[in-house]
Amino acid sequence: MAEAEQELRFDTKLIHGGTTLGPSGATKAPIVQASAFAYQTAEELEDIFKGRAVGQVYTRIGNPTLEGLEKRLAVIENGIAAVITSSGMSAITTAVMAVVRSGDEILSSSSLFGGTYSLFHDTLANYGIKTRFFDPTDLQALETGINEATRLIFGETIGNPKMDVPDIAAFSAIARRHGIPLMVDATVSTPYLARMRELGADIIIHSTSKYINGTANSIGGAIIDAGSFDWRSDKFPHFEQFHRKYRNFAFTARVRKLIHKDFGACAAPLNAFLSGEGLETLALRMERHCSNALELARFLQAHPKVAWVNYPGLPDSPFHEVASRQFGGRFGGLLTFGLADKTAAFRAINALRLAKNLANIGDTKTLVIHPASTICADYTPEVKALMGVSEELVRVSVGIEDPADIIEDFRVALEGV
Ligand SMILES: *Cc1c(COP(=O)(O)O)cnc(C)c1O
Repeated sequence: MAEAEQELRFDTKLIHGGTTLGPSGATKAPIVQASAFAYQTAEELEDIFKGRAVGQVYTRIGNPTLEGLEKRLAVIENGIAAVITSSGMSAITTAVMAVVRSGDEILSSSSLFGGTYSLFHDTLANYGIKTRFFDPTDLQALETGINEATRLIFGETIGNPKMDVPDIAAFSAIARRHGIPLMVDATVSTPYLARMRELGADIIIHSTSKYINGTANSIGGAIIDAGSFDWRSDKFPHFEQFHRKYRNFAFTARVRKLIHKDFGACAAPLNAFLSGEGLETLALRMERHCSNALELARFLQAHPKVAWVNYPGLPDSPFHEVASRQFGGRFGGLLTFGLADKTAAFRAINALRLAKNLANIGDTKTLVIHPASTICADYTPEVKALMGVSEELVRVSVGIEDPADIIEDFRVALEGV
């Protein structure tokens, strides 16, 4: 990518980085809603299949609209390349399967998005890939958890609903020392709070369904290759052929030419277009998500019926210090709070008028959910404890409405609790 683009400031990059004009000078790249791409001669198509020429073939493999968003995300994260997928879960599955093989182990933070926990704990275990979990606040546990079979270290930037914030730079230092790549799911922090490549992540994951899309109109995922990991290692013989041909791009090549092509979880062009629209306003929205969340956290903390509030932006959060340092004084749009019990939590949710009760985060609208009875209902009591999911807990994804209206909604709802 152009060097000048890397020099743009973050908010400008969201709008201009990696973008191109469409046909006739259109200010939007076109939505290429086509499954396949035609060529005049058999020779041309042969050249493309053999890698002697560059060209589109079939949308599962690549499409100009998808490539447009991939280029923009790579520029924004300061990565060398990106691959977008049909969902955040397919981004994680594709990226992880590109790294590990049967018999390999993943060492993962225990504070995980529910779908990722299920993927690691249940699904991948059935295919001979074992995951060991470590407490992300315990760096010693990370270091001692590494063994001969470990091929990947996995973590999230802000745990949900635990609201824990691990020290990603410290994770990276340990991963580097052991020659193991660090993959970070940065969905909740978004590129706005921090660029994970600068903190040492080798592979960055986003569910674009959340803050990047921003208005909850399409599911999508992204895998960004920081280009920082050296895959020439005894641990990764399956990268040898890709490194020989694609050098620094070995990981992206293995994703694109093998795993993503074979698993087939490609993004839809219209969804990629819509998520790209969201990306332009990410900084403005995140600024408001963060300031509204802090205001709501302070209001709830002072409320007599609220037992506790968990938000890394509050000085009494055990993660306030690391979050301040890592995220430059901004703390994201998610918070959790506790009432007396499950009945009180249900009463509060039922009494909210503005805040919508649903299973999502990162919309412009304020959203609430009772995780213990919904998204985490299948967890055993031990896993619930590990993930910080208690019966009295309500999760809030704070929207970008006028903060006075959000607070008024909670004030009235809590009156009846
Ligand atoms: C939502 C989410 C995912 C999964 O993304 P989908 O787009 O729903 O598949 C993964 N990780 C985190 C942290 C999420 O919030």
